[in-house]
Amino acid sequence: MSTRKIAVLTSGGDAPGMNAAIRAVVRTGIAKGWEVFGVRNGYSGLVEGQIDPLGARDVGNILQRGGTFLGSARLPGFKDEPVRATGLANLSDRGIDGLVVIGGNGSQTGALALSRAGLPVVGVASTIDNDLAGTEITIGVDTALNIALEAIDRLRVTASSHKRAFLVEVMGRNCGYLALMAGIAGGADSVVIPEADTEPEVIAQILQAAWTRGKPHALVVVAEGARHNAVKLAQHFEREKGRLGFDLRVTTLGHVQRGGEPGAFDRLLATRLAAAATDCLERGEHGRLMGLWQGQIRTTPLDEIVGQTKPLDLSLLKLQKVLAQ
Ligand code: ADP
Repeated sequence: MSTRKIAVLTSGGDAPGMNAAIRAVVRTGIAKGWEVFGVRNGYSGLVEGQIDPLGARDVGNILQRGGTFLGSARLPGFKDEPVRATGLANLSDRGIDGLVVIGGNGSQTGALALSRAGLPVVGVASTIDNDLAGTEITIGVDTALNIALEAIDRLRVTASSHKRAFLVEVMGRNCGYLALMAGIAGGADSVVIPEADTEPEVIAQILQAAWTRGKPHALVVVAEGARHNAVKLAQHFEREKGRLGFDLRVTTLGHVQRGGEPGAFDRLLATRLAAAATDCLERGEHGRLMGLWQGQIRTTPLDEIVGQTKPLDLSLLKLQKVLAQ
């Protein structure tokens, strides 16, 4: 029997820990006696045939690096069947009959489409947004959260030295997870997330009340996807500065949050999920997402998670408000 051949790609937004996942796919695949191929630049490279063999040494010294050494890309055209057919043909031309897709919601939607076309595909849950259903936590979230916290802690130092309010906008697309967790762990006075919109005047009252109670600083954490995002809040507070009597300084963390070196949690999560992905392919199970549930690896059919949004635990927003007293 000929050697089994599988490929791995990273797609969508890069996340710290993707390299650890690629490494684990390659090395667990090789340990099973398979040949493993790396696809450059996500679905874009799949369609363009950028597919090369990866040996154990090719993935040396990447475990600790952020980003993805295979590259990632966004290819809106992958929604079209003929485009996907070109990608599938590129795999079958090389005798590849298994694919591991490391990425977030959009990437797993693409993975499901490939799976429905007959390719054995498994997904590995990876996005700093933590918005994927089927897993409690995704690769990259913990590192991104720590980067946001480092920025928040520094801003508190300077905020305490002046009568200034600071607003930090964190990533997360339409999901408030990063903002809420950063707000709780960073001791924010107010958290603004898409799941529970807050009017600018309510935030102003919270900040003024914080000063009245004798707090030396006031800090707001805003999710980029909130209706009142950093730009809108900054405009409001600038307009009302005279009446409110304080300045609001805005820091948008943006892509800084993505670029960190993965911490222990993300390296371990990535390694476990990616190893589970090759085990899954070996068992002949596919069309599934590898996720973590109550500390254990859980695989969920892609058609049950695609198009879903994992709900945020809003009891934590209540807790944040209590703790900000
Ligand atoms: P993420 O995977 O981080 O959520 P995106 O939403 O940008 O990132 O999706 C990454 C890529 O997945 C897209 O550029 C596209 O190539 C592919 N993709 C997204 N949605 C679909 C879809 N409905 N069908 C097929 N492919 C899709």
